Amino acid sequence: MLARIGELLKKFFIISVEDRYQNAFIHEINTINAARVKVCSVTFIICEIAVITLSLLIKREKLFSQPDLYYLLMYILLTVGMVFFLLSFIKLGKNIQQNAKKIQVGGVLFASFILFWCAGISLLDQLSYGQIVVYLSAIICIGVIPFFKPIVLLLMYGGAEGFFLILQPYFQQSTEIIFGNGVNSLTFVIFSLVISRMRYKGFADDFQNKRIIQEKSALLEEKSVLLNEINLLLIEANHRLENLSQRDSLTGVYNRLVFDRTLKMEWDRCKRHHIPLTLMMVDIDFFKQYNDTYGHQAGDECIKRIAEILSSSARRASDVITRYGGDEFALILPHMNQESALKLAEELSNKVIELSIPHANSTVADYLTISIGANTLIPSAELTIQDLLRNADKALYEAKMIRNKIVIN
Ligand code: GH3
Ligand code: MG
Repeated sequence: MLARIGELLKKFFIISVEDRYQNAFIHEINTINAARVKVCSVTFIICEIAVITLSLLIKREKLFSQPDLYYLLMYILLTVGMVFFLLSFIKLGKNIQQNAKKIQVGGVLFASFILFWCAGISLLDQLSYGQIVVYLSAIICIGVIPFFKPIVLLLMYGGAEGFFLILQPYFQQSTEIIFGNGVNSLTFVIFSLVISRMRYKGFADDFQNKRIIQEKSALLEEKSVLLNEINLLLIEANHRLENLSQRDSLTGVYNRLVFDRTLKMEWDRCKRHHIPLTLMMVDIDFFKQYNDTYGHQAGDECIKRIAEILSSSARRASDVITRYGGDEFALILPHMNQESALKLAEELSNKVIELSIPHANSTVADYLTISIGANTLIPSAELTIQDLLRNADKALYEAKMIRNKIVIN
């Protein structure tokens, strides 16, 4: 039972934030308290100067006889005290981080000073009209204006309340009033303590939650940046992969897969717009013999150089150069009529000859040559892609009968 009560009291009076937030929390509390001490002291200074001036004007000689003299001394004490606290906190407030401890102690001294001063005034009031409203107001204000740990506030309230209760009989004759004042002040102390504890707990929880949210959102931000980067890398890798899947690894021109897809697409497009479409097949002459004579690696080099010639010659945006298979290339050339096709074929053939790649085992020349077969037609409902393929194939076959030859039909 006792342990349970002890546990409850501990829970009530000890409120803390996680260790890692401790310094920042104290800093925040000190910033608020320092500002509030300054505002309160200025307010008190203004009020006390007004009260002293009015007292001087209204009470005049009476002011220097008891008990008014005590009041006057108390007003002067409060004014001096507030000026002292104001100046101290202006100085301390310049570096809250460095003066953390001093601000904490200063805050407690300030609040205690107010409490004891107000208790003193209420004791003086017992000599005349018996009210304790000044002391009660101070109890409430100290509970709701600054932020104090509940245990610290309990000690301050305990000290002031003890001071008030012990000295009350010296100022008040009536035991009923003494009892009433004691009950009232104790009630105010308990309520203010509970209110202050609720405010402090709420402030600590808010502070901690705010920090946790900030940390989590920073972490999320970091993760989302990372995810974005990964996403970009994935998109890039995807592009590269897609490109790779469309390209012939040796020459870099499009592969057979793209040939099939593009031919179908261009066929439909040219059919829609009634424009010519040329399919040009290019094949290296006696390439098997070339490999046998100069080796496979030299053969690879030849295929690459011929692919370069094709790419640099058929350069219009719609021209598509593909490796059809082995030593054979297929060029899809939309918008190209027979005349232009012949011109292009001649250009290609000449450029290969100009390379002057020696080919000792060719029966048509001393260097590497190509044969070209092409077909040009305007796609229509009566024709099919197979017709185009068959015609181009036939043209290449005819060219191959002679080699180093161009046949366009
Ligand atoms: P033709 O004049 O009738 O075209 O005779 P050809 O020898 O060129 O034709 P054939 O179809 O008999 O041989 C094609 C050769 O191309 C066979 C193969 O060794 C070679 N070849 C196919 N792909 C590659 C390649 O990637 N690299 C190399 N170096 N040679 C290849
Ligand atoms: Mg060949």
